[in-house]
Amino acid sequence: MSAPRFRRAALIGIGLIGSSLARVLRRDSPDTTIVACARTAETLAAARRLEIADETTDDPAAAVDGADLVVVATPLSAYAEIGRRIAPALRPGAIVTDVGSVKAAAVRALAPHVPPEVAFVPGHPVAGTEHSGPESGFAELFRDRWCILTPLPQTPPAALAAIAGLWEDAGMRIATMAAEHHDKVLAVTSHLPHLIAYTIVGTATDLGHDLQSEVVAYSAGGFRDFTRIAASDPVMWRDIFLSNREAVLELLQRFSEDLTALQRAIRRGDGDILYDWFVRTRAIRRSIIEAKQA
Ligand code: NAP
Repeated sequence: MSAPRFRRAALIGIGLIGSSLARVLRRDSPDTTIVACARTAETLAAARRLEIADETTDDPAAAVDGADLVVVATPLSAYAEIGRRIAPALRPGAIVTDVGSVKAAAVRALAPHVPPEVAFVPGHPVAGTEHSGPESGFAELFRDRWCILTPLPQTPPAALAAIAGLWEDAGMRIATMAAEHHDKVLAVTSHLPHLIAYTIVGTATDLGHDLQSEVVAYSAGGFRDFTRIAASDPVMWRDIFLSNREAVLELLQRFSEDLTALQRAIRRGDGDILYDWFVRTRAIRRSIIEAKQA
């Protein structure tokens, strides 16, 4: 067997994403020592029970001690504190990466703490489910999905290649772009759809009791798909909206203008506007299927 890409991997956060990566390493790189770090004893016990970590700790500094790979996979609001705590313990030559869903904020929180002799490769594996915690992870989560890396000017090319290789081993396709561009793209493809789902499901929950039970009974009419998205982790999504505020607010402005246009078409009975709009959006669905991202 070839030498492992990384000898000792510290996973700070062992939830859906961290534990899925741990399962990939377990499967494909059995010689890599996996150190899992979380806050609670329950999560660390689960990581041991699931046999996805060789060592566990609630101390981020202890976790990164001697690691050649450090993956920050906690909610974004924990990043700055984790950066502060791991900084003195990072090994020269180590690579720090992360999986956060908003990249400019991730860079702002972590980069100031990463010493010059340590490489930082910000990343976002664009793959997920509405579930959280170590039990919800699975190695195939990443297969055929995109991983977006947002290197800094000072990121060494060898470190970028090593992290690209890590995600390629997990079955991902790699794209590289600026953090700010990533945040604009994801505001459209992920953040706005989640906000809309949270809104619709919240509105339905506020309906009178009779109507509410019927909403549940007849949810297959479209509502059910929104409830899956709106069941996503509240901490993670609070952090995403607060971290990507500008891009989300700009997009929301455009969205509400379009919503007003459709509202006007319905009020005026303008079927052509509605029909043309729906033809256009159906074509987008087809192109997503063709790109095998359905
Ligand atoms: P998750 O399942 O809720 O797991 C979060 C993990 O972080 C838990 O192990 C938690 O430990 C740990 N943690 C929280 N605060 C910590 C701290 N201060 N120090 C050490 N560990 C801490 O979350 P996730 O879905 O894997 O998301 C993690 C990151 O991935 C987020 O930044 C998110 O934006 C990004 N992401 C998520 C998805 C998705 O669909 N879920 C997709 C792509 C990227 P305890 O259980 O002990 O609190």
